[in-house]
Amino acid sequence: MTARSIREPERDLPVRGEYDVVVLGGGPAGIAAAASAAALGRKTLMVERYGFLGGMGTAAGVTGFCGLHANVHGEHRQVVHGIVDDLLARIDRLGGLNKPHVAFGKIQAQAYDTAAYKCAADDLLLGHNAEILFHALGAGVVMDADDTIRALIVETKSGRAAVIGRIFIDCSGDGDLAAWAGAPFERGDGHGGMLYPTMMFRLNGVDPAAAGEAWTTIPALMDEAEARGVMFPRKGAIVRPQKNPIEWRVNVTQMKKPDGSAIDGTDADELSAGEVEGRRQVMQFFEFLKREAPGFQNAYVVDTPPQLGIRETRRVTGPYALSGDDVLTCASFPDTIGVNGWPIEAHNAGNVEWKWPPIPQSRGFCHLPYRMILPQKVSNLLVAGRCASMTHEGQSAARVSGPCFVMGQAAASAAHLALAGNSELSEISVEALQALLEKNGAYLGRGIN
Ligand SMILES: Cc1cc2nc3c(=O)[nH]c(=O)nc-3n(C[C@H](O)[C@H](O)[C@H](O)COP(=O)(O)OP(=O)(O)OC[C@H]3O[C@@H](n4cnc5c(N)ncnc54)[C@H](O)[C@@H]3O)c2cc1C
Repeated sequence: MTARSIREPERDLPVRGEYDVVVLGGGPAGIAAAASAAALGRKTLMVERYGFLGGMGTAAGVTGFCGLHANVHGEHRQVVHGIVDDLLARIDRLGGLNKPHVAFGKIQAQAYDTAAYKCAADDLLLGHNAEILFHALGAGVVMDADDTIRALIVETKSGRAAVIGRIFIDCSGDGDLAAWAGAPFERGDGHGGMLYPTMMFRLNGVDPAAAGEAWTTIPALMDEAEARGVMFPRKGAIVRPQKNPIEWRVNVTQMKKPDGSAIDGTDADELSAGEVEGRRQVMQFFEFLKREAPGFQNAYVVDTPPQLGIRETRRVTGPYALSGDDVLTCASFPDTIGVNGWPIEAHNAGNVEWKWPPIPQSRGFCHLPYRMILPQKVSNLLVAGRCASMTHEGQSAARVSGPCFVMGQAAASAAHLALAGNSELSEISVEALQALLEKNGAYLGRGIN
């Protein structure tokens, strides 16, 4: 009979180091958190499972920033500032930042080159004296008491080790650290449904003149093909040029389980199946483009990313959960730490559904409250990024890069204030947090309705 479990012998772990702030995960939230904590003079460690930073932005081939901008009463404005300005300037200096483009005639987004983003993020963290531990998979925690994390356990090529911290910031996207520490979390829309994952891909060798504004014509080509019986995993294809116009990114695949629900990005078997299916869909859609879309005849798939793009898994429950209504009504909060101007972008079965705040009647962004990055039950933990406290609909908007940068910088600033004042994270002065964020360039979205 096959054993259902096996006991691992207890063992002592070497301590890799002791830090003021330990950040798990190097996506937009983690980059902003680690760089900001180190810039504030805190001994900071970034723990990342891959050999590069950027999170979904690089590891899943996203290659475009959304949520840095908002449509403010009809005017396109960058509304996320602070440490991200330093990062953007570094990507630009490396020649890897495109000018912002208008999407859906309503809001700006900004493409970047993955290699430049990776290098700029390295330089940003190291330039502020943050330490980086790459190729380190966070694997568990050691608790001091029920509510205090003593150490993060990491698995590395040099073995399993412990990293001791005073404050931990979970930027894993999946809320791994929060879940191990016992913080409550939610998943999906209440019926188990999460946003569907996508395997991104990039093409090279596109003829930009012939392709033209292909992103406006490809949906109609897909409709025509569908009428002839061609099947696509989803509608709402996003096919756009990168900085070099012969290179394009394609966001069109959708991974589901046999029962039709979304692949779970915290389930190893589902992830494995999703990677294989994702690459299969990439090649299938590429064949369609080559055959039917002008300008793509001599293109080739230059990259499928290191991993399947995961939009949503755990959302760690805080004292407040940002909701879809907050996004659509451009809600204000007294404890604002920055803003989100991205609309609800719901990756549902077979389609992408968009919901916008009134444009141009509204200011086009909602505040992000400090309470959404404060988990419950664990005293020395903050959660920033797509796994912060949001409802399923709220997360469909505020999971994109812009608001993740906001949350990361705010989490680091809150950690700094708590350490400086020897106070609980839940009891720091919100006014002091806001003053510190503004001093360091952040925009909190106050004084405009
Ligand atoms: C297909 C797709 C397309 C998208 N398109 C856009 C877009 O055009 N523009 C945009 O702004 N956003 C887009 N998004 C959303 C956006 O990329 C993410 O929501 C955003 O990157 C979330 O940032 P984050 O820092 O919270 O987490 P992530 O970006 O997910 O980063 C988490 C990091 O933590 C690391 N990590 C996770 N677990 C562990 C562990 N246990 N140990 C060590 N490291 C760990 C991961 O390797 C990763 O680097 C897209 C997402 C997907 C999936």
